[in-house]
Amino acid sequence: MRRTGEDTGAARATSSRGKSGRREPNRRLDASKPDRTTPPAVAEATTTGRRTTGRRTTGRRTTGQPTAEAFLEIGLTPGLYLVATPIGNLGDVTLRALAVLRGVDRIFSEDTRITAKLLARYGISTPLAVYHDHNAEQIRPVILAALHRGERVALVSDAGTPLVSDPGYKLVRAAIAENLTVTAAPGPSAALTALILSGLPPDTFLFAGFLPPRQTARRRVLEGWGAVEATLVFFESTQRLVEALSDMAETLGDRPAAVARELTKLHEEIRRGRLADLADHYRDAGPPRGEAVIVVGPPERIAPDRAEIDGLLRAALAELGVRDAAAKLAAETGLPRGELYRRALAIRDERG
Ligand code: SAM
Repeated sequence: MRRTGEDTGAARATSSRGKSGRREPNRRLDASKPDRTTPPAVAEATTTGRRTTGRRTTGRRTTGQPTAEAFLEIGLTPGLYLVATPIGNLGDVTLRALAVLRGVDRIFSEDTRITAKLLARYGISTPLAVYHDHNAEQIRPVILAALHRGERVALVSDAGTPLVSDPGYKLVRAAIAENLTVTAAPGPSAALTALILSGLPPDTFLFAGFLPPRQTARRRVLEGWGAVEATLVFFESTQRLVEALSDMAETLGDRPAAVARELTKLHEEIRRGRLADLADHYRDAGPPRGEAVIVVGPPERIAPDRAEIDGLLRAALAELGVRDAAAKLAAETGLPRGELYRRALAIRDERG
């Protein structure tokens, strides 16, 4: 049953139980107000002495600190739960993620074989179905209908945080548009894990996802990120590390970087160095196994004076056209590309 906009008088349909004994969804009914449907899973695990749902709150020590058991016994409000799962080490699943996966009516997963292993490891037998790029259009209405019936549904990806270069965005958009509760059990993500291990500035970063596999498109995308004053984080296949690192060195400048591979796994490796050196390493060593994230430091400001800029532009123009020379220097120095382009044109015209 879906409530309409006229129901706003009863704005929060809090946990009223229907015939089935299941609670009705906490839905956001008035789009002009913030969504106040704090999931009991959160409230109960962090509130002491006061019950926020009809479910029992055993497993709590007298100190008021929630125990592991408390997380596993919480009741769940109907809604869509975006649940992060380990990126390698199965121990990295959170207590709350396990509670949600155990407590929901069904789990949708990108690859049921991978998720089944996680569930088996923790003795969870919640029904599992597939939601991936190839069946999303057919399955999305099924999930939305289940949510409208008041079911609790979890979405997980193969590994890490759903939606981060993984399916789920359109489902979340649709659920929000239909005033359904969407919440998350956050946890591992390869992007953040690589960033914090890279040794590169973490204060401002840009997650750029996967680069295009073809060189022309890849370089075009990289040029777009060149002047961004942030550490850049890319997912990349280990089979394409050399090509990606070389293109980065050429388009972004030879910045400090890190390749974070097999994170949280037995053979975890963080290799740090300049982009060109990293490219050389993998060229010599051959493609490594497993999965990798490339983290690239922000543009290094060299603040060259006019004569230096001209020298750098002349050097670049010996190999590149005016547009590419200006783009390269803009990425390396952070100077405005248009200004460098005009100066490069002048130098080219001087040379005749
Ligand atoms: N949603 C996931 C997350 O939040 O981590 C990422 C999914 S994306 C399809 C898969 C990519 O993430 C891999 O190609 C790799 O770039 C990165 N990745 C995932 N697990 C990793 C690991 N253990 N070590 C290094 N990179 C990893």
